[in-house]
Amino acid sequence: MSDETCIFCKIVTGKLPGAKIYEDEVMAAFLDIGPLSPGHTLIVPKTHVERLEDCPPEILAHLAGKAGKLIQAVLRGAGYSDYNLLCNNGSSSGQVVPHVHFHIIPRRENDNVFNRWPAGRYGEGEMDRMATCIREQLG
Ligand code: AMP
Ligand code: ZN
Repeated sequence: MSDETCIFCKIVTGKLPGAKIYEDEVMAAFLDIGPLSPGHTLIVPKTHVERLEDCPPEILAHLAGKAGKLIQAVLRGAGYSDYNLLCNNGSSSGQVVPHVHFHIIPRRENDNVFNRWPAGRYGEGEMDRMATCIREQLG
């Protein structure tokens, strides 16, 4: 349930300080110590799981149910109207803390937070082939 070596478990259990903004029996939300923008917040389940797909659906459902109110509070509190909701999974995606978490990142025009979105293009027929490969995995 809790991992003694995990920074986020330590914040959840109060062994490390954190600027908590919300907590209940299933989850906590606290400010990111290295904000990409003011009010940058992390939402975490209290149960230690590394990746989104490891997280029990009922816990994810609880987080999702609270997300809207938390997002509104972050945006109003920090004076923003837009945001990204981000969940990095695995080191190549940028995940550094191996305890699943969602970033709420307040955004405004020309803030240069994510100024690259390197969109590619599928060649002839590739998009359909890719969709078929993925559908096959779903069984
Ligand atoms: P990720 O790269 O998705 O694993 O994000 C980890 C985030 O955790 C980073 O944005 C860090 O700034 C943040 N972080 C690391 N240590 C702490 C801490 N002690 N309190 C709050 N946020 C932290
Ligand atoms: Zn943890």
